[in-house]
Amino acid sequence: MEKYKERKWSGEKGKKFGKVDDPYLPAGGRAEMAICTTCKAIYQNKSWFYDEEVYRQNFQKDTTNRVTCPGCQKVQDHYYEGVLTLEGDFLAGHREEIITLLNREADRVSQKSPLDRVIQMVWEGNDRLIVETTTEKLAQRLGKAVYRAYKGNLDFRWSHMNKFVRVYWSR
Ligand SMILES: [Zn+2]
Repeated sequence: MEKYKERKWSGEKGKKFGKVDDPYLPAGGRAEMAICTTCKAIYQNKSWFYDEEVYRQNFQKDTTNRVTCPGCQKVQDHYYEGVLTLEGDFLAGHREEIITLLNREADRVSQKSPLDRVIQMVWEGNDRLIVETTTEKLAQRLGKAVYRAYKGNLDFRWSHMNKFVRVYWSR
């Protein structure tokens, strides 16, 4: 079994996702909105959201920028700001159940907030699961959801000026 390896994103964060020249935002001028061609998220009035109706009405318009949203971009770049580690005998005995719970909670959060996404879930052996998320918020939400459902131990450790969180749950 290969050990799970941390892969740090090598780019310059401020340059790529900062406010100065964020390539994911509409370039101003004529563009009224931007739509992500991967997940159909819509950017309008400085926020990202999903709306099937708005998507259908605007996708073909010239005034719409077709882009990759920061959520999809971070998933593609494997850029994560949260890591949730779950482990223990209870986890090993309830793998399917806990994966289902994590997916349901992740979907619930992502539907409201397209930038909060799970990048990947990796099993390390039978009793350890690593979940990488694009935001520290989602890693916390997932950890709390598992704790609410199954109790156990939950712990948060922040770093990088509170921009990165490691969440540990065990039972
Ligand atoms: Zn997207």
